[in-house]
Amino acid sequence: MSIAFQVLGSSSSGNATLLSCKTEAAHHHLLLDAGLGPRTVAKRMSELGLEGTPIDAIVLTHADSDHIRSSWTRTLQRLRTPVHVPRAHLAEAERKGVPGDLLRPFEERFEPVAGVGFEPIRTPHDQTGSAAFKISCAGSILGWATDLGAVDQDLLEHLADIDALGIESNYDPTMQRESGRSPYLIDRIMGGRGHLSNQQCLEAVQALADRSNGSRPLSAIVLLHLSQQCNCRDRLRRFWDRNAPELSAKMQISWPNRVGDRVELGPVSTKPVQLGLFA
Ligand SMILES: [Zn+2]
Repeated sequence: MSIAFQVLGSSSSGNATLLSCKTEAAHHHLLLDAGLGPRTVAKRMSELGLEGTPIDAIVLTHADSDHIRSSWTRTLQRLRTPVHVPRAHLAEAERKGVPGDLLRPFEERFEPVAGVGFEPIRTPHDQTGSAAFKISCAGSILGWATDLGAVDQDLLEHLADIDALGIESNYDPTMQRESGRSPYLIDRIMGGRGHLSNQQCLEAVQALADRSNGSRPLSAIVLLHLSQQCNCRDRLRRFWDRNAPELSAKMQISWPNRVGDRVELGPVSTKPVQLGLFA
């Protein structure tokens, strides 16, 4: 029994991650955000040896176009894939072309497939917010937080005691300020309801690592949603190496146009301290 994930691509231009959840009863594949089109997702999945593998459900953090591409309409109609979306984004998801009869609005905990639980919490992002998740499967827990302008205590408590974390690290503040972008756009991104800077992201990860107890150490961190204009992978890695070398060793930076490394949580036998719970 295990949960694994692999970012298929992530940047301000498009985001999609494949979640694989194996329980005693079934092996499910879910898509977390669909901001890459169906052809790109199929191509990346075939690179992983998953050609033709059905997606059992799609879960959206929110309905911005870098999280749900309108090119999914026909594929969704043909495959009848349910699309779970925050209730506040229901109308926007339908405007982006998700067939209304496939939309599954959520506000509280839901299971897109049996045995895989998503616990959402709303994050500050533009007018309508985004959803961060605690995702549980087979005793392992993955935290997911993307598109948020700030991290508050509620979010830190929600994501305490997770095994792995995907979190956005959108921009380097100096690059953002010197980008030549309009003051309005810079303020939208940096004003608390936009995106997390590299510094805000690392502070959040450090706070979560401090909160994780010995039986559930944070074992893997994936940085998401890098701005292609206002961030730099080398600078970001150096920043982590300098300020949090132990966490940097567990961290990978997602790619905008390339599949990331697979992160596998469980089976529980890799965590002897938990054997008593699951033996
Ligand atoms: Zn986004």
